[in-house]
Amino acid sequence: MHDPVVELFECAACGHRLSHFAEICPGCLGDALRPVAVPAAAVLESWTLIRRPAPAHAGAGPFAVGVARLAEGGQLVSGRIAGEAEGLGVGSAVTLARDAGGRITIRAAGAG
Ligand SMILES: [Zn+2]
Repeated sequence: MHDPVVELFECAACGHRLSHFAEICPGCLGDALRPVAVPAAAVLESWTLIRRPAPAHAGAGPFAVGVARLAEGGQLVSGRIAGEAEGLGVGSAVTLARDAGGRITIRAAGAG
């Protein structure tokens, strides 16, 4: 059994990591960002419940979004929290993944 991984983007020049693709690295302004799979284990640092989404996402709420810090490397990654975020709080162990649309999702470690 393999531990879950999540795909991020890493600068080949300076090692800066992003959760989304960018043409230019914000760390060194280089253009050598490439996909990299990293362990998906993380710790929830903060979260909030969106009760009334912006018009572009009307009908999607309420939903929770959060910021998690990867256990390996300490990268901060933001995304939507899967489900109702019940039982999750600051410091909870979580696992990162990408949904069908490529967006980062955060779920309780060990769940689904
Ligand atoms: Zn760079």
